[in-house]
Amino acid sequence: MLFAEGPQAAGQLAQQAMDRMRAEAVAPHPHNFTVWYAYYSGRYPDLIRAVDIIASNGLPFTEARCGDLYHKFFAADGELQAMQEIGDKLTEALAGIASTLSTAGNDAGNFGAALKTFQGQAELSDTLAQLRGIIRVMTEQAQRVAVRNQFLQTQLTDSAHQLENMRRDLDTVRREAMTDALTELANRKQFDQALREAAAAAMEDGRPLCLLMIDIDFFKKFNDNHGHVVGDQVLKLVGRTLKDSVRGRDTAARFGGEEFAIVMPECTLDEALAFAEKTRATIANRRIVKRTSGAPIGNITLSVGVALYEPGESLGRFIQRADEALYVAKHEGRNQVRAHVHAGEAAFV
Ligand code: GH3
Ligand code: MG
Ligand code: MG
Repeated sequence: MLFAEGPQAAGQLAQQAMDRMRAEAVAPHPHNFTVWYAYYSGRYPDLIRAVDIIASNGLPFTEARCGDLYHKFFAADGELQAMQEIGDKLTEALAGIASTLSTAGNDAGNFGAALKTFQGQAELSDTLAQLRGIIRVMTEQAQRVAVRNQFLQTQLTDSAHQLENMRRDLDTVRREAMTDALTELANRKQFDQALREAAAAAMEDGRPLCLLMIDIDFFKKFNDNHGHVVGDQVLKLVGRTLKDSVRGRDTAARFGGEEFAIVMPECTLDEALAFAEKTRATIANRRIVKRTSGAPIGNITLSVGVALYEPGESLGRFIQRADEALYVAKHEGRNQVRAHVHAGEAAFV
């Protein structure tokens, strides 16, 4: 997880986390600290929702409840547990296949040995009755192997099915672990990974890499006026718009509550600015209507910060520069796009 806060902002968040843990009378150990630091950072929308729901139900944040939050959102335990379960099933299925194959091998070996014996006997036998006897026993043996083989085939087909189910389970776990549940965009984890990979590739091939930080304007007021449910629908709408408009190699992510980020590899600053402007205009021109009644409820706007990667700069700094450009866009009136153009000293276009 990438935290973009500088020492001062991080210090404030840490203080808020400590105060909250004291107020809730839970121990300030790393797990609880992670939960409350992340909560106050505003970077984990699903965690914020969970906390807010617990609070609005008047439930106390006991050690157990904080522990649940930690495990759900940070321990990767759910993911790990699912992986372990699938791993156990895989070991079981493979052991089954191995034993099936070794039984099949034994059967074939036994049948082979029996055939050899019968071959010797057949050469030595000189009566029709003896030969008939040999043929009868061989037929029985062959039938037994055939029945056995049929059973083995069923077992192998079962194992193949089990393996296929496990592959599907694994794909689902992997996808869910990387996706934001509300907007179905990449989550922070996938964003972090995509940014790391894109920066490494940009350093290697020298091609430009851009980052967009997008924040919905006055969203608190929107929620206050129309409620969180409509707010969530707007987040989904923005998510879908971003997903539909990015190129295949881009990664559109939900960065935090009403903040989005797009990693744009092989993209010049001019191209990123043009994309950002087009997206801003698209959203600004969308008329939002209430899903239930179809009644218009105005529109929303976005502020966007853009930065071009300076090969070698830290990813924290890269994110921070895009964030600073976003801050300028907010400060200068919102509903606009700004870019941070120099890594050394700040300049904005
Ligand atoms: P600004 O233009 O400066 O960005 O103003 P703002 O009100 O958008 O910014 P602020 O950071 O003050 O408030 C962000 C709001 O976003 C607070 C919260 O109500 C809302 N929000 C964050 N996550 C969610 C969510 O998952 N669902 C809904 N409905 N609202 C959310
Ligand atoms: Mg906002
Ligand atoms: Mg915000």
